[in-house]
This record gives sequence, C-alpha cells and structure tokens, in this order.
Amino acid sequence: MVDVVLGGFFGDEGKGKVLEYLAKEADIVVRCSGGSNTGNTVVFNDKKYTLRFIPVAILKSNVTAVIANGVVIDPKILVNEINLLKENGYNLENLKISEKAHIILPYHIKLDNIEEEIRGQDKIGTTLTGVGPAYSDKANRYGIRVQDFISSRFPKLLKRNIEMKNKVLESYEKETLDYNKILEEYSEYSKALEPYICDTVNFLQDSAKQNKKIICEGSQATLLDLDLGTYPYVTSSNSTIGGILSGTGLNHKQIGEVYGVVKAYSSRDGEGPFLTEEIEDADTNNKIRELGHEYGTISKRPRRCGWLDLNALKYAVQVNGITALAVNHLDVVGKLKTIKLCVAYKYDGKVTNKFSSNPAYLAKCEPIYEEFEGNFEDVLEAAAREDLCEQAEKYLQRIEEVVGVPIKFIGIGEENENILFN
Ligand code: GDP
Ligand code: MG
Repeated sequence: MVDVVLGGFFGDEGKGKVLEYLAKEADIVVRCSGGSNTGNTVVFNDKKYTLRFIPVAILKSNVTAVIANGVVIDPKILVNEINLLKENGYNLENLKISEKAHIILPYHIKLDNIEEEIRGQDKIGTTLTGVGPAYSDKANRYGIRVQDFISSRFPKLLKRNIEMKNKVLESYEKETLDYNKILEEYSEYSKALEPYICDTVNFLQDSAKQNKKIICEGSQATLLDLDLGTYPYVTSSNSTIGGILSGTGLNHKQIGEVYGVVKAYSSRDGEGPFLTEEIEDADTNNKIRELGHEYGTISKRPRRCGWLDLNALKYAVQVNGITALAVNHLDVVGKLKTIKLCVAYKYDGKVTNKFSSNPAYLAKCEPIYEEFEGNFEDVLEAAAREDLCEQAEKYLQRIEEVVGVPIKFIGIGEENENILFN
C-alpha cells in the first residue's frame, strides 16, 4: 500500500513530523518532486545539517529511500549528502536514485538568479537553487537526465547546453561558464552517484506488488502547485497528488491514505494571495510569528501569518483526494486568547464555499470567521486526543465538521515526538 503526505497550503506545515511517524512502519520512503529548494534537518555531533535530497527516514530504520524520477537533482549537493552520511557511519545500501530524474547544473543556478533579477518587484522569491530553470529545461527537452549524466553522452549534451546558456549569460553581460571545468567536476559526481542509480519506476511497482509499505513525501504544498496553486507565486513542479503519480510511476489505484498536513493557523513565505492573513491586528500576527518561529528556512525573512482557511482546505482535499488531516502547531494557537477560523467567504454579497486559485477571484472574497476560545491548557501534556481541553477539542471538531475529513494527527509541539495519532 502507498500512503502519501502532502502540504495543505503554502508549505512548512510540518510534513517532516508526520513522515517520521509513518516511516517507522514503512519499507520504502520516496521523494517524488522538487529539488534542492526543500529539505529536512539532521543533527550529527551537535551540528545541524539539511538533507535536501536523501529522505531522513533512511537514518532511522531499515527503510529504503528512493529519489524518484520527478525530482531535479543537484549532483554536487547530493554527493555531499552521501559523503556526510557515510562519514557518520551509514552505508546507504538502501538508497535508490532514479535514472529518469533530471540534474541541476551550474547554469541553472546562474539563470535562477538572473531571472529573479529580471522580475524585479514581481520576483517570486525562489530559493535560487536552480530548480525552476532545471524544470524549464526538462519541459524544453534540453534537460539532462541521470541516465545521460552517467553515460558517454554527457560531454556532448553538456557542451551543447553550455554553449547555448553562455549566449544567454553574455546577453546579460554575466560571466560565462567554462565547459572543461564543469565537465571535470561533474564527471566525479556522476561516478559517485552511479552505484545508486536504477529504474525506480520498476522498483516501486515491484515493491507495490509485493505489498511493501511505501510512503511518498510531497514537497512544498497544494497552493504552490504549478497548475493548481496561486500562479505565478508557485513552485516549478506539481506538488499535488498528480505530481506524486507522475513523479514516481505509481498509479492512483495503488494509493491508500492521502494525509493533508496543515497548521492550526496559516503562514506564507513571500508573495502571493493569502486571504486569511491577519493584517488588522498586527500584535496577533507578530505573536503567531514569534510562537511558531515563522521565519523562512532559507530566506530567514519573516513569514506572513494568519488563520486557517477551510475554503482553501476543502479545495486541497478535493484536488488531492485527501483522506485524513494532520493539524500541527495546536500548541501555538492554544497560547492565543482568541482563535479565528475561516469557514466560508463572502463574494459579491453572498456566502460561498468556493475557493479558486485565481488571484482576481480571491481579491474579491472576504473571509467569514468564527471565533474560538484559546488559552488551552498545556497541550504538550496530552498523551491522546481525549486529553485535550474542551476548547481545543471544539476547535478541532469544527475543522472536521466543515471539511468533512477526520483529523488523524495532531501536532502539539516542536519536536517530532510531539504528535498525537488516532
Ligand atoms: P515541511 O516544510 O512541511 O516539511 O515542514 P517541516 O517538517 O520542515 O516543519 C516546519 C517546522 O515546524 C519545524 O521546525 C518543526 O519543528 C515545526 N513544527 C512541526 N510541528 C509542530 C507543532 O505541532 N508545534 C510547533 N510549535 N512546531 C511544530
Ligand atoms: Mg520542510
């Protein structure tokens, strides 16, 4: 059976915690899309490292970790991760990298920076890691797949692409790239990656047939999906369920649970529509930010904070087929006096339950809030949902009632073990 973990809104909802819980029972954990624009933290000898490609689950148990075909891989970063894990005693026999994944090359990173510069005031706030340009090349059929990268075709393809990209760099009066230097450096990475490369589509299909427990991790989140999110303020791949299927070669009939991960409030890193942002009450906005440590992981910029939007959540449930919810950061809203919950919008004077990712539509909508009493007793004390105070239970029940999907996970604190499951 294949279970999927997806972000509900704008990302940073705490998928890592749910994944870690599910990975305990899993045989295989799969990265399905995205690239070096996301990551999870590991600690070795009191020092924090971010793993951008290798699923952290590989460290915890006997699980096999797959970097599937939908991912764009920065070989330099991935080789560093492999070396870091090896230095810390992991043999990585259980790591599998798709031959069909595409690779990020230095020109992608350069172009990511230039393209953001060109957008000027309208910049998206990309992580400047080359992910967007690598997906563009994939769509343009200039992409270099892992299978090309480890073959004798690599020098020819690299030469063609560098010649082409250098013309673009020249036109922006930027420093051009040196083919020989890149070929030499990247040939080393390709040798380092070769032992892990295979046809992960076949591997996953065979594993599904053998009833292995497979967990697929989504990257980013629903409203950042290239097609279904708030374009252009989105990521450069499909971060909804479709991206899981095309990014792995698993099919829809093989999917079991689809967990939608949200926070008990909302936050957004960077630009783009965010209807339930708390704008009027700056104190509450700041309080949520401080309590929830809402600062960009890479950018460090303060995130915009506000309330849970159940119209948007219903949309996430519909487009992904979410079967169960994970609501994290209950501890954060529990420290507020009053919690607002958006249960519908007012559009053109009428109440509507419709969300649309069209910014023009959203601009005309006004959230309709219900207010809930906060000041929860210390939720960290709870060992099960039954232990939560009445106000907390009221809030959670209202979410389930409006959305029509049960809450299976409740996040009650920062640590991964601060989670309730029912
Ligand atoms: P992702 O972007 O969805 O993968 O989110 P991460 O797994 O990176 O988590 C984002 C942050 O939220 C991490 O720093 C977690 O410690 C924190 N976090 C997750 N769940 C909770 C929770 O229930 N309460 C609090 N206070 N923090 C949480
Ligand atoms: Mg994360």
